[in-house]
Amino acid sequence: MKSLQIVDIVPMVMQAGAPSSTAWTGAGGKSALATARNWLFVKVITNVDGLFGIGEGSGWPRVLHTAVQDLKAELIGQDPRHIERLWQRMRLATMGHGDTGVVGAGAITAIDMALWDIKGKLLGTPVWDLLGGQVRDKVRYYAHAKSVDQARALVATGVTTIKLGGHHDIVARCFALREALGDRIDICVDLHGPPWLPAIDSIAIGKALEPCNLLFIEDPVSPEDLEGWGRVRRALDNTPIAGGERLANKWGAMALLGELVDIIQPDTGRCGGITEMKKIAALAETHFVQVAPHSGSLGPVAEFAAVHLMSAIPNGLMMERLEPDWSGKEAAVRTGLVASAGHITVPTEPGLGVELNEAFVAQHPSQRNVAIATGGWQDPQEEGRTYVSMRRQRARLTSQDQSIEPK
Ligand SMILES: [Mg+2]
Repeated sequence: MKSLQIVDIVPMVMQAGAPSSTAWTGAGGKSALATARNWLFVKVITNVDGLFGIGEGSGWPRVLHTAVQDLKAELIGQDPRHIERLWQRMRLATMGHGDTGVVGAGAITAIDMALWDIKGKLLGTPVWDLLGGQVRDKVRYYAHAKSVDQARALVATGVTTIKLGGHHDIVARCFALREALGDRIDICVDLHGPPWLPAIDSIAIGKALEPCNLLFIEDPVSPEDLEGWGRVRRALDNTPIAGGERLANKWGAMALLGELVDIIQPDTGRCGGITEMKKIAALAETHFVQVAPHSGSLGPVAEFAAVHLMSAIPNGLMMERLEPDWSGKEAAVRTGLVASAGHITVPTEPGLGVELNEAFVAQHPSQRNVAIATGGWQDPQEEGRTYVSMRRQRARLTSQDQSIEPK
């Protein structure tokens, strides 16, 4: 074979719609995801006819679009098979910009993912095979619900784990869900670690939730508040703690691994790529920590990557999945993942096994990529959700609200 080279890297950014009925579509369709969700795809093209790879990056997709174009100059002419070498090259190329966090890691992720896709296609084998083979041929996932009815509908499809998000009435909502679903369903609570939630209030919420026997509490405080995170960890000794979606690469994950989390949640689009996720999973394994990849606003290509990774690592707990998601998630790829009974079937096609519908992507040009999540910053007179809110009002930890607890 003639020498294999990268000849072009094409980033594609698109405006994606919000999930249809669950999760973050509140506030009359004005939530962050409803207005500002973008997907960034990358096509890495080689000099071999028809051989190219597809990847996806998150972190700030519109900014990644430029970052990928910048990185392209360092990669043209390189052999795409040497993934580790190219990963290090990209890392060094962004060093001069300082600590680029999830934006830099997101751009590296998108390209790295496409390189694994190329290698699999070249060798005629799935990415999970390149990662050491399968530990499992289907991957469990959890879904989001805003109401008991939504949760019941998901459970009826075979989903075994439901995640509640936010702070408003979270304790009451969680007890209602546990009462409705019984003990055979896992429940998780995502507190989203906003800057206005101090550790002492997160501890109060966590203690109130202890009777719900949660699978985990996610992002109890901001990941910048590691001292506060440690206080939460020590205070909530009956509830597993999860986190990591806002952290870039293995060094970000290491800040939480060991003492602070039971479950690490690297974002498949911005943690540094399949290369880096495999290392994060290995670091987690040394601490007996499980891996539950974050999805959030990610598109379909990153989900394929997460499934391959989860198939190949021993400590993969489950994946996050928005269900139902925007219909465009299926339309953006030629063939989607198969999900049933709360599990995603691991693909067996060479590479990632995903084919991007580039025409569909082009039909949805990016318009807006920044928004504040619903409730993230309200007028200060609205109590409950901002820096100035009254203590213990955020989760309605008052005596009258606790009356809904099961007797
Ligand atoms: Mg989260």
